[in-house]
Amino acid sequence: MTTAPAMTKTQLLIGGAWRDASDGGTYEVRNPATGAKIADVAEATREDLNDAVNAARRTFDAGKWASMAASRRAKIVYKIAQLIGERAADLSLCEVRNNGKTIGTAKGELGAIVDCFEFYAGAATKNYGETLPPPLPAYLANTVREPVGVVGAIVPWNFPLLLASWKVAPALAAGCTIVLKPAHATPLTAIELGKIALEAGVPEGVLNVVTGSKGGLGGWLVDHPAVDKIAFTGSTDTGRIVAAAAARTLKRVTLELGGKSPSVVFDDADVDAAVAGALYGVYYNAGQCCEARSRILLQSGVYDRFVEQFAQKAQRLRVGDPEDPQTQIGAITTSEQFEKIRSYCAIGAAEGAQTLFGGGPPELGQSFASGMFWNPTAYEAKSGHRIVREEIFGPVAVLVRFDDEAEAIALANDSEYGLAASVWSSNIGRANRVARAIRSGSVAINTPYSVFPGVPFGGYKASGYGRELGMETMRLYSETKSVLTYIGEKPMDPFRV
Ligand code: NAP
Repeated sequence: MTTAPAMTKTQLLIGGAWRDASDGGTYEVRNPATGAKIADVAEATREDLNDAVNAARRTFDAGKWASMAASRRAKIVYKIAQLIGERAADLSLCEVRNNGKTIGTAKGELGAIVDCFEFYAGAATKNYGETLPPPLPAYLANTVREPVGVVGAIVPWNFPLLLASWKVAPALAAGCTIVLKPAHATPLTAIELGKIALEAGVPEGVLNVVTGSKGGLGGWLVDHPAVDKIAFTGSTDTGRIVAAAAARTLKRVTLELGGKSPSVVFDDADVDAAVAGALYGVYYNAGQCCEARSRILLQSGVYDRFVEQFAQKAQRLRVGDPEDPQTQIGAITTSEQFEKIRSYCAIGAAEGAQTLFGGGPPELGQSFASGMFWNPTAYEAKSGHRIVREEIFGPVAVLVRFDDEAEAIALANDSEYGLAASVWSSNIGRANRVARAIRSGSVAINTPYSVFPGVPFGGYKASGYGRELGMETMRLYSETKSVLTYIGEKPMDPFRV
């Protein structure tokens, strides 16, 4: 086993210096699989948050980072990718012990994180403006992209380093400065990212990392008048609060929110592939995944065959020790989330959904007696059930039957969310018709995978607005400035006075 970075007591990164919270406060972070304490984390005060924002503001306004040659910024962002790649084993283990995800999942994420920094290293030199058709004959008109300013990056606990990277990489590439606020439960890899950024040559004050126990930190960041943009990933309920608060200071906002995404399986699908893809789609990361395909919509002709195979295979998934490479479902990250899953399973049973399998925690050995685990679970349900409509964010699938293409589309769209979908069919015309009709930010045909650097990711409807991962994300960390040049021979004299 590799050794995770020793992290008994962590600090805040403010203006390039590591320091304790101004009042010396800390809070405990525990391994959700074992309950063991893994760190005392600095609990930033409002004064610390102000210091972090002011450091980011001063650094941005000094202009050196924003006006640095894009190719030089690109090299620094690329260096971050390299350092993360070199430390992938330790970072994976750190994520596993803080978040409870499996080591296999964490290693996969580390690869994606390196890819993300590499992608935005390349994007730094391609944040092009445009040359416009002259609005008048004696004019030149062009646009330039300038960094949006100070970015407050707020990250949830389900993919702590990955989702921090989706914000930090493009923000750095665009020339912004950043205050990164990880979720209170999972701050450890964000702290490591701060160390790596400094080592890679990110100037002091460009990336600041503040940690705090559940409470005001995110809200203070959103309210702060010196922040220009909030890049938020989290629940739809918090997203609404963030959008309303950010409106008071007219901040730019990107919201990556919740989901209740469907896997739509037609009679003509390759059933083996659809079962394998649907299993991964809903149980990956113990279902704590914004784009989890937690609604499985099945055409009547394939229903029984699919359910039989799905139930057989789901019960072969190994739940338990996240550090064992054979495990597919690790721990639930927070006790709040664990209780939420428990309560939705009770709701499902009470509203008459049929339990196919699961519905409770597994029996694991003494080492995991204090851990929070949930068996893969599935219900046969109806579209009106709450477990079909509301985001559970755990290893819980709901299976709903449909008869024809029109009904499949109606059911897929019968959700306040619109983050992602998978369509399983061997009829490529049908698959694409359905993909076109589904109102979500991504649709994956005959695959559960829809997240890659370079491919925009984000929501329709209550799943948020703005995109991450694609080139268009660079625009969301930039302002467009129009530059107009008069090139006429005679000087301008509009009033002729
Ligand atoms: P959450 O409770 O909304 O928290 C997300 C982040 O916001 C945390 O850092 C949290 O800090 C902070 N926060 C809480 N209240 C805030 C406020 N009033 N103002 C500003 N920030 C505030 O969400 P979560 O439970 O951590 O994450 C799960 C949710 O995230 C799910 O709904 C999931 O679908 C969504 N998600 C979406 C995507 C996507 O790309 N669309 C990706 C991953 C997850 P504390 O930790 O201190 O409370």
